[in-house]
Amino acid sequence: MHEYSVTKGLIRTAVEEAKKAGAGKINEITLVIGDLSTIMDDSVQMYFDILSEGTIAHKARLVFKRIPSEFQCRECGEKYIKPKKGFDCPKCGGMGTPTGVGKEFYIESMEVE
Ligand SMILES: [Zn+2]
Repeated sequence: MHEYSVTKGLIRTAVEEAKKAGAGKINEITLVIGDLSTIMDDSVQMYFDILSEGTIAHKARLVFKRIPSEFQCRECGEKYIKPKKGFDCPKCGGMGTPTGVGKEFYIESMEVE
Protein backbone atom coordinates (compact mmCIF):
# COMPACT_ATOMS: atom_id res chain seq x y z
CA MET A 1 0.00 0.00 0.00
CA HIS A 2 3.11 2.17 0.04
CA GLU A 3 2.42 3.28 -3.52
CA TYR A 4 -1.07 4.52 -2.69
CA SER A 5 0.08 7.53 -0.65
CA VAL A 6 3.08 8.10 -2.90
CA THR A 7 0.88 8.22 -5.99
CA LYS A 8 -1.64 10.47 -4.25
CA GLY A 9 1.13 12.98 -3.48
CA LEU A 10 2.45 12.66 -7.00
CA ILE A 11 -0.91 13.56 -8.57
CA ARG A 12 -1.39 16.50 -6.18
CA THR A 13 2.04 17.90 -7.06
CA ALA A 14 1.57 17.32 -10.79
CA VAL A 15 -1.85 19.01 -10.84
CA GLU A 16 -0.59 21.98 -8.78
CA GLU A 17 2.40 22.48 -11.06
CA ALA A 18 0.31 22.19 -14.21
CA LYS A 19 -2.25 24.71 -12.93
CA LYS A 20 0.55 27.11 -11.98
CA ALA A 21 1.76 26.85 -15.57
CA GLY A 22 -1.78 27.63 -16.76
CA ALA A 23 -2.29 24.18 -18.27
CA GLY A 24 -5.67 22.52 -18.52
CA LYS A 25 -4.50 18.99 -19.13
CA ILE A 26 -1.49 16.80 -18.36
CA ASN A 27 -0.41 14.52 -21.21
CA GLU A 28 2.69 12.90 -19.85
CA ILE A 29 4.61 12.69 -16.55
CA THR A 30 8.18 11.45 -16.37
CA LEU A 31 9.03 9.95 -12.99
CA VAL A 32 12.42 9.13 -11.55
CA ILE A 33 12.37 6.15 -9.21
CA GLY A 34 15.38 4.79 -7.38
CA ASP A 35 15.61 1.01 -7.04
CA LEU A 36 16.04 1.30 -3.27
CA SER A 37 12.75 3.16 -2.89
CA THR A 38 10.88 -0.17 -3.28
CA ILE A 39 8.24 1.53 -5.41
CA MET A 40 6.82 -0.69 -8.13
CA ASP A 41 5.99 0.87 -11.50
CA ASP A 42 2.91 -1.31 -11.94
CA SER A 43 1.41 -0.31 -8.60
CA VAL A 44 1.99 3.40 -9.25
CA GLN A 45 0.33 3.02 -12.64
CA MET A 46 -2.63 1.18 -11.13
CA TYR A 47 -3.22 3.77 -8.38
CA PHE A 48 -2.62 6.59 -10.81
CA ASP A 49 -5.42 5.36 -13.09
CA ILE A 50 -7.83 5.26 -10.13
CA LEU A 51 -6.76 8.37 -8.21
CA SER A 52 -6.34 10.70 -11.18
CA GLU A 53 -9.97 10.18 -12.22
CA GLY A 54 -11.66 13.57 -12.34
CA THR A 55 -8.39 15.56 -12.31
CA ILE A 56 -6.53 17.15 -15.20
CA ALA A 57 -3.95 14.36 -14.85
CA HIS A 58 -6.44 11.68 -15.87
CA LYS A 59 -5.21 9.59 -18.83
CA ALA A 60 -1.74 11.12 -18.64
CA ARG A 61 1.00 8.76 -19.77
CA LEU A 62 3.49 7.79 -17.06
CA VAL A 63 7.12 7.32 -18.04
CA PHE A 64 9.31 5.55 -15.50
CA LYS A 65 13.04 6.14 -15.24
CA ARG A 66 14.73 3.72 -12.88
CA ILE A 67 17.91 4.66 -11.08
CA PRO A 68 19.96 1.68 -9.92
CA SER A 69 21.01 1.70 -6.27
CA GLU A 70 24.62 2.63 -5.64
CA PHE A 71 26.79 1.18 -2.91
CA GLN A 72 30.22 2.08 -1.60
CA CYS A 73 32.68 -0.45 -0.23
CA ARG A 74 33.79 0.15 3.36
CA GLU A 75 37.08 -1.64 2.74
CA CYS A 76 38.43 -0.13 -0.50
CA GLY A 77 36.05 2.76 -1.17
CA GLU A 78 34.90 1.41 -4.52
CA LYS A 79 31.49 2.69 -5.68
CA TYR A 80 29.37 0.15 -7.51
CA ILE A 81 25.84 -0.70 -8.58
CA LYS A 82 24.28 -3.22 -6.22
CA PRO A 83 24.72 -6.73 -7.61
CA LYS A 84 21.57 -8.84 -8.09
CA LYS A 85 22.58 -10.98 -5.12
CA GLY A 86 24.06 -9.58 -1.92
CA PHE A 87 25.89 -6.31 -1.35
CA ASP A 88 29.53 -7.35 -1.67
CA CYS A 89 32.13 -5.17 -3.37
CA PRO A 90 32.98 -6.58 -6.83
CA LYS A 91 36.60 -5.46 -6.38
CA CYS A 92 37.62 -6.84 -2.98
CA GLY A 93 34.52 -8.67 -1.70
CA GLY A 94 34.22 -6.25 1.25
CA MET A 95 31.01 -5.01 2.82
CA GLY A 96 29.23 -2.21 0.98
CA THR A 97 26.75 0.36 2.29
CA PRO A 98 24.20 2.41 0.30
CA THR A 99 25.39 5.87 -0.74
CA GLY A 100 21.84 7.24 -0.93
CA VAL A 101 21.72 7.10 -4.71
CA GLY A 102 18.73 4.94 -5.60
CA LYS A 103 16.21 6.30 -3.09
CA GLU A 104 14.84 8.93 -5.45
CA PHE A 105 11.22 9.48 -6.23
CA TYR A 106 10.31 12.67 -8.02
CA ILE A 107 8.74 14.17 -11.12
CA GLU A 108 11.45 14.93 -13.65
CA SER A 109 9.27 16.58 -16.26
CA MET A 110 5.73 16.94 -17.50
CA GLU A 111 4.03 17.54 -20.82
CA VAL A 112 0.98 19.75 -20.47
CA GLU A 113 -1.39 21.64 -22.70
ZN1 LIG B 1 36.01 -3.13 -1.97
